[in-house]
Amino acid sequence: MLFFNRILRIKIKAIIVLPVSVFFISITGCTENSPDTTFPDRNRVIASTTDRTGRQEIKENKFGKNVAGTRTYIIGKSVKGTPLVVTDAGNGKEIGLVIIGSLHGNEYNTKILVAALESIYHKNQDFIPSHMSLFFLPAVNPDGVTYNTRRNARNVDLNRNFPTEDWKSDAISPNKQSVGSGGISPGSEPEIRALTKWLLEYVKQAVEHMYVISFHSSYPPTGAVQPGYRIYGDPGPESEEFARFISRETGYKFLHTWISSSRITGEFIHWCEMNNIWSCDIELPDYNSPSVIPHGKKEPTYATFRKLLQELLYDFFSLYSEEGNGR
Ligand SMILES: [Zn+2]
Repeated sequence: MLFFNRILRIKIKAIIVLPVSVFFISITGCTENSPDTTFPDRNRVIASTTDRTGRQEIKENKFGKNVAGTRTYIIGKSVKGTPLVVTDAGNGKEIGLVIIGSLHGNEYNTKILVAALESIYHKNQDFIPSHMSLFFLPAVNPDGVTYNTRRNARNVDLNRNFPTEDWKSDAISPNKQSVGSGGISPGSEPEIRALTKWLLEYVKQAVEHMYVISFHSSYPPTGAVQPGYRIYGDPGPESEEFARFISRETGYKFLHTWISSSRITGEFIHWCEMNNIWSCDIELPDYNSPSVIPHGKKEPTYATFRKLLQELLYDFFSLYSEEGNGR
């Protein structure tokens, strides 16, 4: 009898506790605050096989479709619940090159460019040196892309929301102070939480040295490259070397620091440097499609960056594989 009483009590508890906890979970989390951050296991080989007709068969797992050595998965969601989709390609453990577009939603051509570059390496694994891995995030700010706004759906400039020591809520965005444009707290936005978590907890664990390119537009007529910095106005040495190489290869102007009437706060390339991630912003020369030749240039933007990636992979980063312990 005692035994049955206990079971009954447990049952009653379950009846009361379960709906209450479901209610609390639904009001406290599981919306934007808990992005899906189940990252794939990079040590697991996702092999593609060849079927009887000689065609490559693409295997699917819970992270989506994969060809050999590539992974496509969701790192979190935007304010409006749009998934932030990344693809990584290659299995090299020494260098990770992360390429990011549309931190600002109205700079839509950066999303098209990153997606186009991603598709080259997604299809052609052989292009990636064995000591490298590539990571692509075409749109950090998909809601801004949808509404053609610089900021996210909560009117926060994501490139002022990074958890840095200089973060402030009333940030300069883009060239005048704007109340609340930095967000309510450092890293308050779900897009930034997802991005920083992915970089620190997944990419940084997967590779020894991480480099980041963050695309923006526009800086007419030349386009521009600006390296990451620890101290405002003073680029980090690795980031500067990276940015100078890109500037030489593309003809884009090297910017020591961003020309602004006031100091930019909570910025991505500053956050990167503070976390020993070497980075640069690249400003495209215009807002046009990457398939268009910008005014004063000799080739479409896409062609410029297709070539740049090859130069980075086979020239700039090749020193790592030769020396074995980094530049
Ligand atoms: Zn921008």
